[in-house]
Amino acid sequence: MTMETLEFQAEARQLLQLMVHSIYSNKDIFLRELISNASDALDKLRLAKLQDGLEADTSDLHIEIEVDPESRTLTVRDNGIGMTRDEVVELIGTIAKSGTAELLTKLKEAKESPELIGQFGVGFYSTFMVADKVTLVTRKAGTEGHGTRWESAGEGTFTIDDAPDAPVGTTITLHLRPKDEDDALYDYTDEWKIKEIVKRYSDFISFPIRKGDETLNSMKALWARPRSEVTDEEYHQFYRHISHDWTDPLEIINMKAEGTFEYEALLFIPARAPHDLFQRDARRGLQLYVKRVFIMDDSKELIPDYLRFVKGVVDAADLSLNISREILQQDRHIQMIRRRLVKKVLSTIKDLMSSSPEKYATFWREFGRAVKEGLLAEPDNHKPILEIASFATTHGSEPTTLAAYVERMKEGQEEIYFLTGESRSQVENSPHMEAFQAEGYEVLILTDPVDEVWVDVVPEFDGKKLRSIARGTVDLKKDEEEKQPEGDFGPLLGFLTEKLDERVKEVRLSHRLTTSAACLVSDADDITPALEKMYRAMGQ
Ligand code: ADP
Ligand code: MG
Repeated sequence: MTMETLEFQAEARQLLQLMVHSIYSNKDIFLRELISNASDALDKLRLAKLQDGLEADTSDLHIEIEVDPESRTLTVRDNGIGMTRDEVVELIGTIAKSGTAELLTKLKEAKESPELIGQFGVGFYSTFMVADKVTLVTRKAGTEGHGTRWESAGEGTFTIDDAPDAPVGTTITLHLRPKDEDDALYDYTDEWKIKEIVKRYSDFISFPIRKGDETLNSMKALWARPRSEVTDEEYHQFYRHISHDWTDPLEIINMKAEGTFEYEALLFIPARAPHDLFQRDARRGLQLYVKRVFIMDDSKELIPDYLRFVKGVVDAADLSLNISREILQQDRHIQMIRRRLVKKVLSTIKDLMSSSPEKYATFWREFGRAVKEGLLAEPDNHKPILEIASFATTHGSEPTTLAAYVERMKEGQEEIYFLTGESRSQVENSPHMEAFQAEGYEVLILTDPVDEVWVDVVPEFDGKKLRSIARGTVDLKKDEEEKQPEGDFGPLLGFLTEKLDERVKEVRLSHRLTTSAACLVSDADDITPALEKMYRAMGQ
């Protein structure tokens, strides 16, 4: 193959433009991104050897950094898996990652928003913040013949060519932009600056990061270190490495199980929902390690879907290094770990409710909608999930827990009242609400789509039935509704029943209204109007 000049895909070009014009205030992160990619590549090579029997020398997997102040170049080299020519074109020339289009639209709206871009992890392209030309030379492990050389100035095009002598792995050379004289406190060819960046962002990387004869990182697995010995900053950097989220996590959870089945876990509860929390194809799951060896990303078996926002690492001691996704799904140990993690996450949130109400409020605002899905998925966990849930209510503007609702229940009230609907104002103005408001009963206002569904499977909380005020008869006045004498209204009811004929089952007098003349109610076992609408929209 000869040299070709190819164009970046449109979205990639836009993203590059943003990099060249440097939307990050913190440019140091380019090195973290390169090291992170190199570390992934080393993990992949080790795994290919372990699991697919690839023949490769893995005795000295490492990352090397070199700088040359004369030519103003900075080089990051790894002896990892490498890339084929097709892979280079595909992985570096396009942005396959979901959500990039969305990122670009949001960025255009927001202009200055480093935290926004951090959510998406721009990765390799961040090199163009500091370089006006980037060269990548790579050779895929296990392939015959030559390697590949890629080069670009970060504008519309890149070139790709054969690289006859390339060793296995990847070497990336940045041709640094001219030194900025106004801002000349440091330069990326400064020895101390490189050391500082590596220490700050990449200390936990499990392969040596070398510069000359020196190893710059400690390589200590963060989850294996006692909490008291790790700084928040270290945890936060690690969180960024695995989550691509720039906002510091809301909560950090350490777990360690000893005995017949040993594992360690380090979990993070983010402070903010990712943009794709409700997208089906979003990445989810935890990283799985076996005795410090990285096995896989996105291990969905370790955490249920309704806690999909939880990030982190599980390191199990007794699993086979060859474990596949298929085996994971059935593995009893994995199921046990998953149950323990769920329990721990739910109890951590419960603790936050008293220890840090503000953090709890943030958590519920960001993730409550997802957590409520757990009421459908895990009947065994109704109680712990309901205990950490909050709901909008007619009692004030702040959400309430069910426990607080129960405390406020009126004398003689035996059930927890709620009404579902599309919005708070719609629910508040519903005719069903009138009598409850008039009599001073508190009603929960449930407006998330998932609320329509879980209320049908959760019978009670703390011995109190959950009761929709839109269904059946509600005995605010002790079941008088049905027995209400028709009196003078007999002819009117007869007339309405005849007129409405097919459309309603029955017309009856009611206590539940104070100002409206009439309202529609469902039978106790009918589906709610909103759910009926949802089903209809789905064509059922
Ligand atoms: P991400 O790491 O989030 O996938 P990047 O832009 O950082 O995004 O990298 C894009 C892809 O390019 C990586 O997923 C990987 O497949 C490939 N890649 C980047 N750097 C290397 C490397 N040093 N060795 C092998 N593959 C790499
Ligand atoms: Mg990357």
